[in-house]
Amino acid sequence: MKPSVLLIYTGGTIGMKTDAATGVLVPFDFSGIYEEFPSLRRLNVDIDVLTLRPVDSSNITPDDWTRLARIIAERYDRHDGFVVLHGTDTMSYSASALSFMLQNLSKPVVFTGSQIPIGVLRTDGRENLITAIEIAGAKRPDGSPEVPETSLYFQNRLFRANRTTKRSAEELNAFRSYNYPPLAEVGVSIAYNRAAIAPAGNGAPEIFTDMSDRVAIVKLFPGMPRRSLTTMLTQPGIDGIILETYGAGNAPTEEWFTGAVRDAVDAGRIILNVTQCLDGCVSMNIYETGLALQRAGVLCGYDITTEAAVAKMMYVLGRESSRQGRIELLKRPICGEFTI
Ligand code: ASP
Repeated sequence: MKPSVLLIYTGGTIGMKTDAATGVLVPFDFSGIYEEFPSLRRLNVDIDVLTLRPVDSSNITPDDWTRLARIIAERYDRHDGFVVLHGTDTMSYSASALSFMLQNLSKPVVFTGSQIPIGVLRTDGRENLITAIEIAGAKRPDGSPEVPETSLYFQNRLFRANRTTKRSAEELNAFRSYNYPPLAEVGVSIAYNRAAIAPAGNGAPEIFTDMSDRVAIVKLFPGMPRRSLTTMLTQPGIDGIILETYGAGNAPTEEWFTGAVRDAVDAGRIILNVTQCLDGCVSMNIYETGLALQRAGVLCGYDITTEAAVAKMMYVLGRESSRQGRIELLKRPICGEFTI
């Protein structure tokens, strides 16, 4: 029997084509996918299509993530894999969020999109779409799915979703996973890196949809005024802060700075140290400038991306109400989002 893949279209550039009459870009109706791409019939996969409030991904919200997670959970038994078509701009945030919202996966959930609309001749969307579908339906010789986790496919590489970053607004090679190897590389054939792929879960997926919005990002820069740091660290309605620091997790050691951070921690906020570098890891005990943050009660984000840190903070604050419980969840990787 052919594997069955559910294609969920959420919007973005991939869903556009040029209107023959007017020459402008208009949304493409994915329910007509076989008419548009008859060659898809040659893929050994049955494709069902579902459209979810198609939006430019700048307008994606956690409510959309909830809908997406529910659709996948509800149809989990009917399909062998899932492909989510998403705008590229915030795809790493959504894909990271889904990796926390759908745990214990034993089937693939593959995000993809494109830099050029699918209806434009030179599109990168056709290859991204076809290969993502193929990966979502791919099985190992024993019949188990090749990639039973949330992933992101773009330009010949499959990545762990919560390790990705959109790195280019121009190039077709738009995504990277700087701190974790690709789960698969695609050339003439698809080479799966089984050592890097998460083991399949047991039984039904665990779905979690109560993401908290009490999260902020504070990005440091030299000369940051004291008043703006203090305002951001003490703003009301925020329980978790992603602090984007320099290099290996460093920040100013001046007393006003560490004092403001300590005050925020003492006031109950959880602060996670994430580096502004794309590549490499936070280690707060190399320099005095990192140690000062550790002493102030800031948690180490290791090599987590900002996208995954935001998604994880939303998940952790929604899942756990006790401060200690939240800290415990942030200290360890939940679904491969960082390496200690
Ligand atoms: N602005 C678009 C979006 O993220 C860009 C894209 O899809 O590539 O929805």
